Amino acid sequence: MKLFTLGPVEMYDRTFEIAKKQVPYFRTPEFSEVVLECERLLEKFAHAGEGAKTVFLTCSGTGAMEATVLNCFDSSDRLLVIDGGSFGHRFTQICDIHGVPYDAVKVPYGKALTKEMVYEFDGKGYTGLLVNIDETSTGQLYDAQMLSEFCKRNGMVFVVDAISSFLADPLDMEALGIDAMIFSSQKSLALAPGLSVVLLSSRMYEQRVRDRKPVTMYLDFNSHIENGKRGQTPFTPAVRLIYELQDMLRYVDEIGLENKLAHMKEVAADFRARLNGTGLTLPDYPLSNAVTPLFFPDGNAYEVYETLKKEYDVFVTPNGGDLAKTVIRVGHLGNHTVEDNIMLIDLFKKVLK
Ligand SMILES: *Cc1c(COP(=O)(O)O)cnc(C)c1O
Repeated sequence: MKLFTLGPVEMYDRTFEIAKKQVPYFRTPEFSEVVLECERLLEKFAHAGEGAKTVFLTCSGTGAMEATVLNCFDSSDRLLVIDGGSFGHRFTQICDIHGVPYDAVKVPYGKALTKEMVYEFDGKGYTGLLVNIDETSTGQLYDAQMLSEFCKRNGMVFVVDAISSFLADPLDMEALGIDAMIFSSQKSLALAPGLSVVLLSSRMYEQRVRDRKPVTMYLDFNSHIENGKRGQTPFTPAVRLIYELQDMLRYVDEIGLENKLAHMKEVAADFRARLNGTGLTLPDYPLSNAVTPLFFPDGNAYEVYETLKKEYDVFVTPNGGDLAKTVIRVGHLGNHTVEDNIMLIDLFKKVLK
């Protein structure tokens, strides 16, 4: 089986070695050391800065998105949400459910988010911005620098869902003034699903989290941060996933973050360069290294997805709704090489004949 999906993704053999072991009891100093090492390496790779806080949650990425809204904002805020696909739209649904006022910057399908779209909301008293920096449903990588400058000039806090982008595209919390960054185990970390992490800048923690009355028990950041001081979590964490995470972060540290990012860039660019002659086309907007969306002019995208699955045990990512016939997404996250690209392009050519 080969996965070109967007979570779970193709895992590394070293992760399977971890996954076959007994899950140990975790209220121990030994486990605390593992959690603290993960925290140190995550903060290093994200450039989280002095006084940053790390929250380990046992939930999928959406749980971490919801937790961030619940712990950092309330009905006195006015947020701006970049809504350019299903994940951006999910932030608006979370705000609706919890009564957090917002306006959406709608990005029309197939179009790049522009500075003009964002600056329509300049100087209007917004308090925070929520963005999925790679909108995984379209593969668009938004301009983090432009959004960062907008937040700075408007005094807004900057929340980045980097669930598919972390370790795939360069992102520097300090340089960009990011106040909360979210990731999840089953995407670019290439682990099993069930663990999500939120990194908070010291500014976010001190100004918006520390003195807030909890509105959720399971997802309360302050109880996580309090327990986290000794490398623990308030409730049973995804213990095995923490061990998988430790191993993956050690691996990235060994090869070097720069090399990991360069590899991701190389694999994505190589795949895109090989599309020549397949009849499949790319969108015009900027793309994340995590995923390549492909347009099928003959409307047979879903059939190709099914044929690859049934006949070759190869999984690409289908789209839902109106786009099912015309778009599939090819994920590059996880254990992928240029050889995998060659194999998949050959299959596309064979199946499309
Ligand atoms: C996958 C993903 C999520 C979360 O999805 P879950 O199914 O809840 O893990 C959120 N945001 C982005 C950008 C994603 O790619």
